[in-house]
Amino acid sequence: MSEPLSTRSLCWDLHCHSSYSDGILSPQALVERASNQGVTTLALTDHDTTAGLPELLSAALDCNLDIVTGVELSTQWAGSSIHVVALNFPLDCETIQRLTIAAEHGRILRAQELAERLEKCLKIPDSHSGQLLSQAQQLANGAVIGRPHFAQVLCERGYVANTAQAFKKFLGAGKVGDVKSQWPELVEVVEKVRQSGSVPVLAHPGAYKMTRTKLRRLIETFQSAGGLAVELSTPAHTPDFSLWLTGYLNERGLAASIGSDFHGPSAWSELGASKPLPLKVVQPVWSLF
Ligand code: AMP
Ligand code: MN
Ligand code: MN
Ligand code: MN
Repeated sequence: MSEPLSTRSLCWDLHCHSSYSDGILSPQALVERASNQGVTTLALTDHDTTAGLPELLSAALDCNLDIVTGVELSTQWAGSSIHVVALNFPLDCETIQRLTIAAEHGRILRAQELAERLEKCLKIPDSHSGQLLSQAQQLANGAVIGRPHFAQVLCERGYVANTAQAFKKFLGAGKVGDVKSQWPELVEVVEKVRQSGSVPVLAHPGAYKMTRTKLRRLIETFQSAGGLAVELSTPAHTPDFSLWLTGYLNERGLAASIGSDFHGPSAWSELGASKPLPLKVVQPVWSLF
């Protein structure tokens, strides 16, 4: 049983990944780590799948940890890949299920195209065709397949020294492995998420390497489609960016969200470690649950 909310100091983490997508830890291990880190409410937001949620919910029954259901959906807008987090839906929500089934299928097609593009770029002979794909699939081991799995393949085959280099040379925005043709349009996804009754959150806007003008356009488009909140506190944001975004969210009457985008133990992020939301100046996303 959870302690009453009023007696606990609250720590929200509404964005993280498990081994059901490109995270390292199982949902059970995430629950244990989150509890140890003092998180009081956790949302698991795997890329394009909700498959880890039942395990997360049952693991959290034994802990002093509240769970919000979540998923991070891949979309495209104006030539960029944009992530939309959906929060707080029933596990049997048909709209979310339809979106994730389509996205998982899109990821399979995208992995095939990505592998073909890499084979061409790396001049891998036809006699070895298909090997990159099958190695990435093996690494994914049934999880939703993504670029991090291909990054690991490129490392293991000696094309790059590490994951960061794999993204810089082959997989990052605008590189040969940046295949986004399979993603649905941002507006379509946000409209569906909103209609389902769950809360659409624009993930890490500061990570998209856009000018402020284009970012404003993105946020306006997101809000017009039914978007309700934007991630403000996330490791991808600098203090300067957060200050600008705080002002812009207030101007537009959008709520703010917080998450670590934790993928596994690293120097980059920790569960529950994002800077608390400035509650005197922004409306927190949980006021919409
Ligand atoms: P995908 O979901 O297949 O489009 O791959 C995107 C994922 O790759 C992100 O969610 C991160 O986990 C990871 N990623 C993106 N950029 C980098 C990078 N520069 N270095 C390491 N991992 C990255
Ligand atoms: Mn990821
Ligand atoms: Mn993301
Ligand atoms: Mn994420």
